[in-house]
Amino acid sequence: MFRNLFHNIVLAAVLSISITVNAQKINEPKTTAEWTATYQPFRIVGNLYYVGTYDLSCYLITTTKGNILINTGLAASESQIKSNIETLGFKFSGTKILLTTQAHYDHMGAMAAIKQNTGAQMMVDEKDADVLASGGNSDYELGHYGTSFKPVKSDRLLHDEDTIRLGEMQLIILHHPGHTKGSCSFLFTVKDDQRSYDVLIANMPTIVTDKKFTEITAYPGIAGDYAYTFMAMKNIKFDLWLASHASQFKLHGKHKPGDAYNPAAFIDQVGYDTALNDLQKQYDEKLKKDAQQ
Ligand SMILES: [Zn+2]
Repeated sequence: MFRNLFHNIVLAAVLSISITVNAQKINEPKTTAEWTATYQPFRIVGNLYYVGTYDLSCYLITTTKGNILINTGLAASESQIKSNIETLGFKFSGTKILLTTQAHYDHMGAMAAIKQNTGAQMMVDEKDADVLASGGNSDYELGHYGTSFKPVKSDRLLHDEDTIRLGEMQLIILHHPGHTKGSCSFLFTVKDDQRSYDVLIANMPTIVTDKKFTEITAYPGIAGDYAYTFMAMKNIKFDLWLASHASQFKLHGKHKPGDAYNPAAFIDQVGYDTALNDLQKQYDEKLKKDAQQ
C-alpha cells in the first residue's frame, strides 16, 4: 500500500516533468506596452519594409526569389508580423530566409512558429546558434529565466562578413558580439527609382548584465567583445541606419503612421554616432565600477 502510494507519486512526478518538457514552458522575462503594441507597416527604402511592433523592429526585404525577414518580436508578435506583411501586399509564405540581430526572446519569440509556418531557412551568427537551439536557456545572462522563447534549429551558421544571398539581394553580416555572444548587424544596398542607399541594420551594444564582467564565467571574453564591437561599429559607412529596437534609432521621431515614402528621414549619421558614444560611455563607466568593487 505504502509502496504503491510512493510508486504513484514517483509516476506522477515523472509524468509532470515530461509534460513540461513536451510543452516547453516558455517564460518571457518581461514585456512592455511598447513591445506589444501594433504598428502600421511601411516602406522604409527601396525593397526594405518595417513590419515590426511599435518598438520591436522587424524588417522585410523583398526579392524576386522570395523575402528575407529580420527579427520576429515576442511569441505573440507572429500574427502582427503576418498581418503587416500581408497589409503591404506580400505573401507570408514568401518568407524564405530568417535572420536575427541577437538571440534574445524579444527578437526571437515568434521565430520557431514563423519558421514552421513558412518553411524558411534560419541563418544565424555562429556564436548565437546554441542559444537559439536552447530557447535562451544557454544565454549567459537571461539563461536563469529558463526557456524564454521556442527553440529554433539553425540551417546555416554565419561568420563575420559572410554574404546572405536571395534573388538580386546580398546582405553582409557584421559580427558585433557583447550584448549576446552572436549579436550582429546587417549591411546591404537597396535601390529605388532615384538612387541607391547603403543600409545598416545595427544591433546596438547595450549592456544586459549587472554582474562584473570578470564574474561572468559563461562568457569569459565579454569585455573584449564589447570593446571590439564599439571599434568595429564606429568604422561602418552607410547612408541610413535602423536598429533592433525602434527607440534606438528614434523611429517615432522620424516617421509617423501614414507618412509618405521618405527614406531621407533615416539618414542620420549624428544620431548613430551619439547613440554609439552614449553606449561607449556606459561601457567605460561599467569597467571603472567593476575595477573599484
Ligand atoms: Zn537583447
